[in-house]
Amino acid sequence: MKTTGANSASGRPHPAVLTDFDDTAAVQNVAEMLLNEFGGPGWQDVRQRFRDGQINLKEYQEITFRDIKADRATMQSYVKEHASLRPYFKELLGFCRANGFPMAVVSQGLDFYIQALLERAGAGHVPVYAVDTSFENGQIAYHYNHTDPGQESQGNSKGFVVRSFQERGCHVFFAGDGFSDLEAARVADVTFAHRTLAQLCDDHKIPYRAFSDFQGMLLSVRDYAQTGQESGSNLGYEETTA
Ligand SMILES: [Mg+2]
Repeated sequence: MKTTGANSASGRPHPAVLTDFDDTAAVQNVAEMLLNEFGGPGWQDVRQRFRDGQINLKEYQEITFRDIKADRATMQSYVKEHASLRPYFKELLGFCRANGFPMAVVSQGLDFYIQALLERAGAGHVPVYAVDTSFENGQIAYHYNHTDPGQESQGNSKGFVVRSFQERGCHVFFAGDGFSDLEAARVADVTFAHRTLAQLCDDHKIPYRAFSDFQGMLLSVRDYAQTGQESGSNLGYEETTA
């Protein structure tokens, strides 16, 4: 995969596609799906503390998955059986691979459940920038390998990952749905947003395209690769959100 010196023959930066996982690349919130099935009895209380701002996402995830009653293989099997990728993910991935454009998942979730769904979809080669885990003596250990320097206590940073692709010369298309996607939306060259992220982009006046599946993103990336223009790039903030 070509990820360095990323200028095409036209001299334009190559596109790179980065997508959030839960509720974006995946139709479902796979983390919550696993907690519903295997989590300890109080996990929703911990989620409420997170939603109330008492703990951060990193703490919420570590606390809730610490009490989970299943091993890695069991959870991966459950994901493969019950979760699904959003339409046109595979088509967009195929377009990117055919043209040598990077496409990766950028998530605050856990690597093993993301990997499980990608593998089932035949997309196990897609790079995953998520929380790396190891299972030791029935416990999950969490490893944060994509932190913003100086902000390590916050866990991984999606903005850091977006910027790292831009520093390699890429024009970054990003898709997401939640609060943790906001820092990526602020710096991505093109943002596709839905759910909470769309609201946050409205509030912070960050331009975005409405996301429902990956078809619009595929058309936009293809247009950019062919012409240097993104389809719908005439849509400003007001029109997009009208
Ligand atoms: Mg999400």
